[in-house]
This record gives sequence, C-alpha cells and structure tokens, in this order.
Amino acid sequence: MFEKVLIASRGEIALRIHRACREMGINTVAVHSTADAHAMHVRLADEAVCIGPPAAADSYLNIPAIISAAEITGAEAIHPGYGFLSENANFAKIVAAHGITFVGPTSEHISLMGDKIAAKETVKRLGIPVVPGSDGGVTTEEEARRVSDEIGYPVIIKAAAGGGGRGMKVAQTAEDVGTALSAARTESKAAFGDDAVYIEKYLGKPRHIEVQILADSHGNVVHLGERDCSLQRRHQKVLEEAPSPALNASQRAEIGERVSKAISGLGYLGAGTIEFLYENGEFYFIEMNTRLQVEHPITEAITGIDIVREQLRIADGAPLSFTQDDITFTGHAIECRINAEDPNTFVPMPGQITEYHAPGGLDVRVDSAIYSGYKVPPYYDSLIAKLVVRGGNRNECIMRLRRALEEYVIGGVPTTLDVHRALISNADFQNGSYDIHWLENFIANRE
Ligand code: ADP
Repeated sequence: MFEKVLIASRGEIALRIHRACREMGINTVAVHSTADAHAMHVRLADEAVCIGPPAAADSYLNIPAIISAAEITGAEAIHPGYGFLSENANFAKIVAAHGITFVGPTSEHISLMGDKIAAKETVKRLGIPVVPGSDGGVTTEEEARRVSDEIGYPVIIKAAAGGGGRGMKVAQTAEDVGTALSAARTESKAAFGDDAVYIEKYLGKPRHIEVQILADSHGNVVHLGERDCSLQRRHQKVLEEAPSPALNASQRAEIGERVSKAISGLGYLGAGTIEFLYENGEFYFIEMNTRLQVEHPITEAITGIDIVREQLRIADGAPLSFTQDDITFTGHAIECRINAEDPNTFVPMPGQITEYHAPGGLDVRVDSAIYSGYKVPPYYDSLIAKLVVRGGNRNECIMRLRRALEEYVIGGVPTTLDVHRALISNADFQNGSYDIHWLENFIANRE
C-alpha cells in the first residue's frame, strides 16, 4: 500500500480522504492556496504545501504546482477528491507520466465520460437505455428544430462538456429552440471553453437516481445500490437519500446488474457513478461521473463500505475485498448539504464562523472542515458541511435527522440549515413523493 498520498483538494472532502488514509496507515500531503493556510485539511495533514494564491485557477487547478508538491514530498499517489481536477483527463495523464498513481480511472475513461455525447453513445452500445435525443451534437438552429420536432416538446439543450447544472436550456416549443440553442452554446463556451451541445427530450416528472459502482484491476465490478438525488435547485443536488423511496429490491438488483455489466464491458477502473433519470418505471442514462461523489456517504451508511478506502486499494492494484453477494443494504440514510448561503436567495455568504456545535449520537455523521473562528473564504464552493444520518428505516432516519438538524448550530454566517428543517417537515417529502422539479416549487412557495 502507498506510504504517502497527496490530496489535491480542500474542504470537507480533503478531510474525508485524509481520514481514510489515516486509518490505513498512509501519510497525507495537503496542498492549499494562501487563503487556506489555516484550513482544517492543512492542519490535520502530515505535510502541507502552499500551491498558489486564492483563485482556484492559480492554486487548486495549478497542475505544475501540484505535481511539484507531489515530487518534493515524495507522494506516490494523488487523490483528486471531487471538483477541481478530479475529472480533468489531462491532469490524470500528467500525474501518470510522472510515475505517480492517479486515484481514479484512466485518463481515457475520464475524457470519454467527460464528453456527454460520446458517453451516451458508449453506454447505449453497452446496453444501457439513454434519454431519447439527438444522435451526437447539433450546431445549427435548423438541425436543432428538426431533431426537436422529431422527439417532441419540451426539449432540453445540454452542453457536451457540461457539469454542475450549467449550459442547460429548456425549449418548451419550436419557437424557443433558436434562443435556447444560442443561450446553451454561449453559456457552455463561457463555462467550459467548448460550445458543443446536444438535445434531449425534457422529461416532465422524473426522479434522479444514480448507481454507485466500484471496479478493480482484476476484472471485478460491484454496484453499491442507488442514491435518489431528485431534490435539486438549479439542477444541483440539495438533499440525497439511499435507498430511493421509488425502487424496490428487485428493481435495484436489476438496474445494478445492468450497470455492472456495462462497466465490465468498458474495462473501467475505480469508483464511478452512473446517473439516470427515472420516470414511469424506466431508467434513462444522463451521464457518468468518474470520481468520488459529494453524496457518497449515504451509500457508506447503508452498506458499511468505506468507498475512499476501496478507491485507494484499487489504485494500489488490490482486488475488491468483497463480492456483490457480500454487499447488503441495511436501513436508510439521508444527506443534507449545508451551504454558507442566504437561505432565501441562495447567494453565497462567506464570513467568519463565530459559534459552532455539530450534532452527534448514534448514526449521525458530519463531514465538514469548519470550526469556531474559521473564516469561510469567498473563493470556493459554498458547501461547508454535510450532515449524514442513518436510521433502521426511512421514518426512523427522518426522525433522527430532524433531531440532528435541531442540534446543529452554525453562527456567524447564514446557512441553508433552515431550508432542510422546513423541507423534511413537509408531507410530500415524508411520503417520498417528489421529482426533480419538486424542490424548486417548494422553495418558491415557502412562507
Ligand atoms: P450536469 O453534468 O450539469 O450535472 P446532468 O446531465 O447530470 O448535468 O443533469 C443534471 C440535472 O439536470 C438532472 O439531475 C436533472 O435534474 C436535469 N436534467 C438533465 N437532463 C434532463 C432531461 N432530459 N429532462 C429533464 N431534466 C433533465
């Protein structure tokens, strides 16, 4: 096993990876910007290297500085976390070219899945159903109109390089196609430096259900069940749960097996998530994430598997330590993403944490890098904590979550804690009857 791993990330996920390393007897190297000199991931790591000024482009995305940090400290592997360079195929290639192990799939698989048009074509060939839409990309309004007329309205125009819910525009009718096309292309060019877009049927009431997989270098692939991430605002996940209230055990096994088979066919390595929209009993692939997901702890909570530990073992060439038959799903888990944001406008509100008390007790997990006195910097994502709660069943989980949310105190910056408190008290949520549009309506109609 590696003796030293560099963690090319910050915040809660850098801490999460550090914890797995510590438990495995691996030394950690933190990298940080000047703005993060006092951050918890820097304080806990065995070694820390400053890689640049606050702006992510100059620090957490600064490939030469990160490679130098690994070389200077003698780190044998780099874990990219999520965000930043985690889905950057070029980074994975450069890391490997320096004789350092990238904890993740090959750069070829990252780039294949990073192009959502190519990803859809690939998984379709491997037997996974996809959302009906254009064959490949569209460039002209005429072509976009023709494809949209064929698949029927409404349609959604999406960025091939998309991520984080950006570069997506809905056209309700043929008249909207031109505007949606140019808006999606402009937004995509600005966000990803690429204006390739494609068209999909816009599903009216789907759920977002994703399947977690792990694949080792010995040809073993397992799935760890699904997560329901339908509660979204602006196409970004707010609260996730596992298992999905919409699936039963046989549906779970069926989609899981289908996904595992496709992943075997791909020769994929490491952890990955296959995302679907689920409507009227049918799954439609939307994309694959070739990295650790923010919401991975809810899967850990119901399977007892440490996904980061497995990522590190797989990267080191070890076989998976369990088979599909060894995996059991016990109870129910929910994650609340807590952001330093105005709870009404959702505008990020960085600032100093003046008071902090995290909840605890049985089956309550808080993944966070904040502490009393910590200054949330304005330069990065506003996610400051993840509250992950498990219960023997969904009702018990919600009761425990309510109790944990009541205990949670974060002073000094506004947070989305109250949004979660209101959300889990709602009858639709409690019944598990929601789709990807439900949360936007809930937020708009709040008192
Ligand atoms: P990103 O890579 O930006 O996260 P995704 O393709 O994963 O984009 O989609 C993010 C979210 O956008 C989905 O979870 C869903 O809420 C919405 N979405 C994407 N495609 C469709 C579609 N065809 N119909 C309806 N909603 C969609």
